[in-house]
Amino acid sequence: MSWLTDLARPEIQALQAYEHASWEPGLVRLHANELPWRSAADVSIEGLNRYPEPHPHALMDRLADFYGVARGCVLAGRGSDEAIDLLIRAYCRAGQDAIMITPPTFGMYGVAARIQGAAVIEVPLRREASHALEPAALRAALTPAVKLVFLCSPNNPTGNSVDAAVVLQLARELEGRALLVVDEAYVEFSDAPSLAAQLPNYPSLVVLRTLSKAHGLAGARCGALLAQAEIVELLGKVIQPYAVTQLTIEAVFRTLEPASVAIAQQRIATLKGERARVAAQLRRLPAVTRVWPSDANFLLVEFADATQALHSAHEAGVLVRDFRTARNLRSALRITIGTAEQNDRLLASLT
Ligand code: PMP
Repeated sequence: MSWLTDLARPEIQALQAYEHASWEPGLVRLHANELPWRSAADVSIEGLNRYPEPHPHALMDRLADFYGVARGCVLAGRGSDEAIDLLIRAYCRAGQDAIMITPPTFGMYGVAARIQGAAVIEVPLRREASHALEPAALRAALTPAVKLVFLCSPNNPTGNSVDAAVVLQLARELEGRALLVVDEAYVEFSDAPSLAAQLPNYPSLVVLRTLSKAHGLAGARCGALLAQAEIVELLGKVIQPYAVTQLTIEAVFRTLEPASVAIAQQRIATLKGERARVAAQLRRLPAVTRVWPSDANFLLVEFADATQALHSAHEAGVLVRDFRTARNLRSALRITIGTAEQNDRLLASLT
C-alpha cells in the first residue's frame, strides 16, 4: 500500500468489496438465481439470462493490450463518465476535499464533484494563449484539499491538446499529493500520442480512454481508466459488480478485432480531412468570427450572432452544441464533424 491508497477516503481504504457469486463459466450455474433459458429475443453470444463476468477481466486484459499498458492497470466501466465518478467518490471526502479543473472544459468533472460534495477549484485556460494551460496558476491554486486534478487533452470544448511535457512535469510535482487525471477521450483524433505509455514512470498519472468516440461505441457505454494497479484495485471495490453488460463486452471484443480497428483508423483519417475542410469553409463565412484549431472530432466556433447560427442550423435539421455561457468563450458553438454530407448541410445553413 502506498500514498496512492493513503490519498483515498479512509472509508474506501477500509471497505470490504462486495462478494459476488463465483465466476466459473465452465460449471452449471445454480448459484446466481438466473433463468436457465435465454429470452427468445436474445442475440448475444453468451446469453443474457446469465450475469456477465462481475469484473470483466478478459475484457480489461484486452483493453490493456490495446492501450499498451500492463494487465491489472485497467478498469473498464460505463463510459469514461463512470471512471470520473469513481475517482471522485473514492478520493474526495464530502465537505473536505476538492478537485481542480481548467474551464472551459468537460462538464462532468464539476458535476460529479458537486454530487459528491467535493469543492471545485477552477483555474481557467488562457484564451489569449489559445486556451493553453497555465501551470503556474495551477500550482498557486493547489491546496492540500485537492485530491484530483483533471486535465482534458484534447480539451472539450476548446479542441486543443495540453503539451505532454507540461502534463508530465505536473504529474511529477503532484506525486504524494494528488492524482493527475488526463482525459484522452479524443486523443485518437490528434497527432499526439497517448500518455498511457508514461504510466510506469509517473505513479500520480491516471489516463482516461473511451470507446465512445473514435471507435463509434457511444451507445455501448464503455470507457477505460488506465493507472497504477493499486488505484485500479481500489476503484474495483467501488464500482458495481456487473457494471459492464454482456452485450457491451461482446461489442467491445468485436470492435477491437484488427479488421474493425483498421476501419476505425480509416474513418479517423477521413474525419481529420473533413475537420480541416469544414474549418476552412467556416473561416470564410461572414457570420463566423473565429474557428479555434482542433485536435478532436469537433470544432469550437465563435459567431457574430450565435443565437442566429443556432437557429439556422436547427431550421436545417442540424443540432450543434451551445457554449455561449462557457467561461472565456464568446458566442461559441461546438460543432461535431459528421459525414461530408452532414457537414455540407450545416455549412449551407450558416451561409
Ligand atoms: N470525457 C470527455 C472529454 C468527453 O467529452 C466525454 C463525452 N462527451 C466523456 C469523457 C465521456 O465519454 P464516455 O462516458 O462516453 O466515455
